Amino acid sequence: MTEPEVASEFRRRLVERLKRAGYIRSEAVEQAMLTVPRHLFAPPGVSVEEAYEDEVISLVPGLATLSQPSIVALMLEELGARPGLKTLEIGTASGYNAALLAEIVGDGALVCTIEIDRSLSRQAARNLAAAGYEAVRTRAGDGALGWPEEAPFARIIVTAEATDLSPNLLEQLDETGVLLAPFSAPALPALLLRLSRDAAAIHGGFVGIPVAFVPLRGQYGQAPGEVFDGVRRTLWAVQHRVWENGAALTLDQRLTLDLVAVALAEGAESPAEQLASRAWEAYLDAGQPDLAEVRVTVRPLAECLPTALALRRRAHAFCLELPGQRIPAGGGESSSQEGL
Ligand code: SAH
Repeated sequence: MTEPEVASEFRRRLVERLKRAGYIRSEAVEQAMLTVPRHLFAPPGVSVEEAYEDEVISLVPGLATLSQPSIVALMLEELGARPGLKTLEIGTASGYNAALLAEIVGDGALVCTIEIDRSLSRQAARNLAAAGYEAVRTRAGDGALGWPEEAPFARIIVTAEATDLSPNLLEQLDETGVLLAPFSAPALPALLLRLSRDAAAIHGGFVGIPVAFVPLRGQYGQAPGEVFDGVRRTLWAVQHRVWENGAALTLDQRLTLDLVAVALAEGAESPAEQLASRAWEAYLDAGQPDLAEVRVTVRPLAECLPTALALRRRAHAFCLELPGQRIPAGGGESSSQEGL
């Protein structure tokens, strides 16, 4: 067998495995993963066989990777890319995911991808050309700010862990646009946040499973080693609440409870035990929801719920709504920022 035939056989096996495990769900993602030669995007020294294992491949230690195929598939499914949709990717790395996007949208020229590391961006352009995707638009720069000249986009996919999203990026989504990003709150694993917009707001929720990506760098990156002591202490106190109450929470429920606790701890100076009690009560009141039941709205902090369950970020807050605590239509002139 020739190398392309060998590679094609490895791809077929990988795709079978990802389908069985439920990561690949659509014909479009399946076809794209069967087609794009991942081995042409791997760094030197990675064999063709290794390039088709369901493993992450490091490009720059701690800073850039060729993502794990199962997570790439999961994200493409949740993004809902479709033929003809103009798409922006933040974090080109090798260019592999950009090539998959080109297959799915059906035209490389509809795919724009930004990479903060100049030499990676150059290498990605070479990889894309070698694999036949020279039409994909690559750019070196801080993708957190988006690509204003090419906006609006129907789909935006962030492939590095973000603690915040810039208003510039959110504004570049078109009216029916969808943005997908691994979103991390302090001391928690990154969760896939899917946002869309309507006339009134940008909102959405969490999908899929917790993921691990390299951190987003640049203007909207996390400061190195940034830790929130209050958050850590509160999460410990939450752990005690769960033990004391002998509660049997699923991993998903536990993540939801922790997210509520982080949101409370970020916004208040109260002692950890008190914050943990408030988080626990709010969580029980809401009927012990799963992550998928938490609604996220990106808006000014003052317009969050009276409970102020919000991750406060630079230009806006990520307001969390638990079941039964919907934000009243029209926003919150009357909201106060304390309580629960
Ligand atoms: N999409 C890739 C995986 C990306 S790894 C794939 O197909 O496998 C994350 C990449 O995001 C890294 O290459 C990193 O350098 C890049 N990155 C981090 N912060 C960025 C930013 N602000 N703008 C653009 N790229 C960024």
